[in-house]
Amino acid sequence: MPEKITRTLEQWRRQLTPEQYRIAREARTEPAFTGEYCETRTDGTYTCVCCGQALFESGSKFDSGSGWPSFSKPADEHNVDAEVDRSHGMVRTEVRCSRCDAHLGHRFDDGPRPGGRRYCINSASLKLVEKPDADGTT
Ligand code: FE
Repeated sequence: MPEKITRTLEQWRRQLTPEQYRIAREARTEPAFTGEYCETRTDGTYTCVCCGQALFESGSKFDSGSGWPSFSKPADEHNVDAEVDRSHGMVRTEVRCSRCDAHLGHRFDDGPRPGGRRYCINSASLKLVEKPDADGTT
């Protein structure tokens, strides 16, 4: 298992932008269709904005029409924790980074086959690390 990362809220506040802090550390949600990665098609790995752990690969990203980056599966099942979220009068499955407990978003069961999962993730919790071009120039 990867080692846990713990920091004080003050440390996170210094490291993150106010928007990233609100969403990743206070479990808020960015407005639909506003996030940096909503429409992104770039090849790469979406990592945790807080701790850098690999969370989702661009190959599993799909257009859900929801207004948030959507993925059919995590980069590694061990890297994303799921827990019951009963806030806002709903019962949902919240997903968090397994390494630093950053709030990422929610998981739903209406995703593409065969897995049927839809990971609905805030752009503000992610940092895309682009794949270098084949010729190695970037
Ligand atoms: Fe993390």
